[in-house]
Amino acid sequence: MPNAKCQMLNPDPQFDLAIMGAGPAGSSSAITAARMGARVGLFEAKDFPRHRVCGEFVSAESLDVLAALLQDVPAAGTLFQVAPVIDRTRLLLGERVIEAPVAPPALSISRYELDALLWEAARRAGAVAHPNCEVVGSDGDGPFMLQTATGRFKAKALIVAAGRWSQFTADRTIPPGPKWIGLKAHFQEPWTEPCTDLYFFANGYCGVQPVTNGVVNACAMVRSDRATSLEDVFKLQPKMADRAANWRAIMQPVSTAPLIYRQPQPVRGNTIFVGDAAAFIDPFAGDGISIALRSGQVAAQCICKFLMGRTALSEAVTLYQHEYSRQFAPLLSAASRVRSLLSLPPFVQSAVFELFRLPGLLPFVIRKTRRAV
Ligand SMILES: Cc1cc2nc3c(=O)[nH]c(=O)nc-3n(C[C@H](O)[C@H](O)[C@H](O)COP(=O)(O)OP(=O)(O)OC[C@H]3O[C@@H](n4cnc5c(N)ncnc54)[C@H](O)[C@@H]3O)c2cc1C
Repeated sequence: MPNAKCQMLNPDPQFDLAIMGAGPAGSSSAITAARMGARVGLFEAKDFPRHRVCGEFVSAESLDVLAALLQDVPAAGTLFQVAPVIDRTRLLLGERVIEAPVAPPALSISRYELDALLWEAARRAGAVAHPNCEVVGSDGDGPFMLQTATGRFKAKALIVAAGRWSQFTADRTIPPGPKWIGLKAHFQEPWTEPCTDLYFFANGYCGVQPVTNGVVNACAMVRSDRATSLEDVFKLQPKMADRAANWRAIMQPVSTAPLIYRQPQPVRGNTIFVGDAAAFIDPFAGDGISIALRSGQVAAQCICKFLMGRTALSEAVTLYQHEYSRQFAPLLSAASRVRSLLSLPPFVQSAVFELFRLPGLLPFVIRKTRRAV
């Protein structure tokens, strides 16, 4: 994996398409556009591999897309073979437990490996990948001029894939009051089960699932007035505390904040936004990676129509906006309705929890936050 500082790898710093950010969304755009023949510049503020705050639940709807994106990376074959298959979920509130199938099953894939493999696939597809190269500004609305720490790059089209919170986020106001934060670490657990367990407590929850044999990922979303470390999160739920008592951490915890939900904004002028940069879906849905991979792919396909001379840039952007509303906006609306349950008073939350025992209701709610497979 290259570890070079950002540098002008292209003597003529002109690209058909510049992409800011190489998470699942940006890499998916880069692979798709480069395979279609575009000259792609992929700019990433950090480097790989690295841990990300994530439950690492990759829903079934994007596994075919992921396999196709990674087809030229030999190490990806092993990844699919060893990734735990998740075919069940359990919701735990106090002492109560509700179980439901995850059908079709999901995979549990560590972001440490996933993001690095996608980055490698983008390079193999022909994208000029710039690690440690934060984009600090952009001018124009087609063509675009990007400013980075080491130089300026021109591009005919621009995709922002810089995640939930960056200088390109349209609305950077932080609501007053306690913030929602994300926390994650991997732990050794003697007996892992192929199941995603969601431990609920007032103002948050913690998801636990195996990532490899004998190792679980614990990932929490919690209000900062309730807890700011995983150790404190575990104490908020008795069953969680019992289980975590047997764990040994195998990585330094990672955290992220703020987690703010806003209306989707997939385009601004002629700039396209993909993945979390367009909208952040509640982690409960376990669908953020899927939406990132798919929106990245759709955006690249739309932009390539412009690059091939079939449409104007503005038409390509409008086409993407239309596809976003059709494919992704309904999933975000469904997840936001589920999220509102988290802020209910405990006795109402408890009553709603009991409702999920109705046969078929929980699988129905899960399906509403997923694209049909
Ligand atoms: C607590 C929590 C749990 C979650 N659990 C799950 C789960 O189990 N399953 C699931 O599917 N989703 C989950 N998600 C959501 C998932 O992590 C995101 O939806 C996904 O990472 C979005 O991918 P992305 O590529 O849009 O953004 P990111 O993965 O955030 O990537 C953005 C990239 O842009 C880079 N960047 C930022 N600014 C710049 C800049 N100016 N210039 C260059 N590069 C820049 C960043 O370094 C980063 O690499 C969870 C999220 C949270 C917070």
